[in-house]
Amino acid sequence: MELRLSPRLKAVSECVPQGSRLLDIGSDHAYLPIFLLQNHQLDFAVASEVAAGPYEAALKNMTEYGLADKAAVRLADGLAALDASDQISVVSICGMGGRLITSILEAGKQKLAPVSRLILQPNNCEDTVRSWLAANSFLLKDEKLIKDSQKFYEILVAEPGKMELSSQDLRFGPILRREQPAVFKEKWLTELRKLETVLSELPEEHTERAVVSQKIKAIKEVVNESK
Ligand code: SAM
Repeated sequence: MELRLSPRLKAVSECVPQGSRLLDIGSDHAYLPIFLLQNHQLDFAVASEVAAGPYEAALKNMTEYGLADKAAVRLADGLAALDASDQISVVSICGMGGRLITSILEAGKQKLAPVSRLILQPNNCEDTVRSWLAANSFLLKDEKLIKDSQKFYEILVAEPGKMELSSQDLRFGPILRREQPAVFKEKWLTELRKLETVLSELPEEHTERAVVSQKIKAIKEVVNESK
């Protein structure tokens, strides 16, 4: 039986190089590694989970899809799941808040030296994740923005390297901001409308007005800037 991924996880799967050895942290049902193994895109996969329920689901699915000999399923907190002997080349952490993703990376960063690619899909606080990457010698190689079930998701692909990011890069993404795909404009114009509503409802003397006005100004500058 062939697994079908959500558009969000499908977009993540497209960032995994052919022949990778993948560790998927917070894998839940292990859908991402199962899909990639079924499509012969991985040499080996580890699906890891910190919670017992999702770990059991991952284990059951990996067995039911007949992939248990090509993968390990581990109950572990973050990068504790990374065993040097697995020779993991790609680590994915998807579908969590940006602060949680950052705390997982920070707690296990000494284990990341042999890893050649991180694929991170924060549900929010993307700026926190970008800031951690820049401060820890990772370079953004690609950024994707997709809309799935009326929500926008950013996917950050990073490899070892150096980068410097401006405050606009942190918030909007250096690559997304430069490329400005249609969905990028849609996301930020949606956000702009929300902020304009918030501003119109704030009393004249409210201290939040300056913060909201600044956010509106930044969106207008970035979305209008030419390629
Ligand atoms: N990665 C899948 C996806 O993108 O669809 C599942 C996302 S699910 C919302 C987040 C999963 O991360 C949960 O199953 C949770 O148990 C797991 N998780 C949270 N913190 C974790 C940690 N420190 N280490 C491993 N897994 C973690």
